[in-house]
Amino acid sequence: MFNVQNIRKDFPILKTEIYGKPLIYLDNAATSQKPSCVIEQITHAYTTLNANIHRGVHYLSQQATQAHEDARKTVQRFINARHLREIIFTRGTTEAINLVAFSFGEAFCRPGDEIVISEQEHHSNMVPWQMLAQRKGLTLKFIPINEKGELKLEAFEKLLSEKTRLVSVTHVSNVLGTINPVKEIIAKAHAENIPVLIDGAQSIPHLHIDVQDLDADFFVFSSHKVYGPTGIGVLYGKEKYLRELPPYQGGGEMISSVSFEKTVYNDIPFKFEAGTPDYIGSTGLAAALDYLTALGLENIEAYENELLHYATQEFLKIDRMRIFGTADRKSSVISFLLDGIHHYDTGMLLDKLGIAVRTGHHCAEPLIHILGVEGTVRASFAFYNTKEEIDSLVAGLKRVVSMF
Ligand code: PLP
Repeated sequence: MFNVQNIRKDFPILKTEIYGKPLIYLDNAATSQKPSCVIEQITHAYTTLNANIHRGVHYLSQQATQAHEDARKTVQRFINARHLREIIFTRGTTEAINLVAFSFGEAFCRPGDEIVISEQEHHSNMVPWQMLAQRKGLTLKFIPINEKGELKLEAFEKLLSEKTRLVSVTHVSNVLGTINPVKEIIAKAHAENIPVLIDGAQSIPHLHIDVQDLDADFFVFSSHKVYGPTGIGVLYGKEKYLRELPPYQGGGEMISSVSFEKTVYNDIPFKFEAGTPDYIGSTGLAAALDYLTALGLENIEAYENELLHYATQEFLKIDRMRIFGTADRKSSVISFLLDGIHHYDTGMLLDKLGIAVRTGHHCAEPLIHILGVEGTVRASFAFYNTKEEIDSLVAGLKRVVSMF
């Protein structure tokens, strides 16, 4: 069974006190805390197998290479990719989307073509497409949202045309918590022969991901949001696309041979991994994914759902509470405002109580404008959070209301 008190012992930072009060960390959508097994793995890797990987003939280099490539296998298993070569290590979600926007744009996009994204997107899944649009003379189209913060699927279908080259949508909105029906979106796009990229930054920590079942053409995520180290992430891409795309960056590792005249590129995935990779971070990410697998993604999802429903029900008892995002399928994120109180003031006052929440536009300015506000307060829950912490948050919010 899911024993949250035992689980909390795996996360050393949760013992921290802030202004003499126990830390209540509710900023998990921005980054997650790290279990001891991840922290220990990083120390272990630096202590016992640090050497630059691939080409090394010496023992340590071979050990480090093995650990890095084993980490790739762990990622492959975790998201059920068909082939190991479909897993590319990047610096994170942002770099993975930039890679696809650049390389896919070079291979497949011509002036007048269209890319479809949604109104929910994080800047990471918007700005790279705007840059591509500017570079290649493309147009961006946006799937609109309804009043609950769900994507309007009929409108989505109408946006698809023979000009559409790619659809790129988030699996879970980092502002509204909406879990988008990405399997259905992919099926609809595939019916028109259009590939789909799924931004999994907010889904990978909460939902069981099977890229083959989704039939995603590209799926991207960051390690730091899924309890792994910062500075590393993953691009999954179907082999048929990865083979067609030109490299994103040039340098060591991504070549098979180089002369003064020309370069022959390495095979996938290495063609997309120029330079020394984060071969320590990859093993930390693998440790995080193994940890989640041991806990069970279904258990995590069920417990986080319980937290979300409890928090929502308690929030609605607070005066002047306005919640943004009431989708039928939601992940454990609540964006809200207390009527007449600036989001920044709410965040600052909660901080004084040791409660960490995020305030502002959450890197999704266009969405925040659609909501008609300047920003929101966002509480985002992980499986190590408790109902008692939610009670403290609710008490804190009531105190904020009474002060204004
Ligand atoms: N996409 C979504 C939905 C996000 O929530 C985030 C981060 O908050 C990102 C992309 C960017 O992730 P990173 O900054 O780790 O590249």
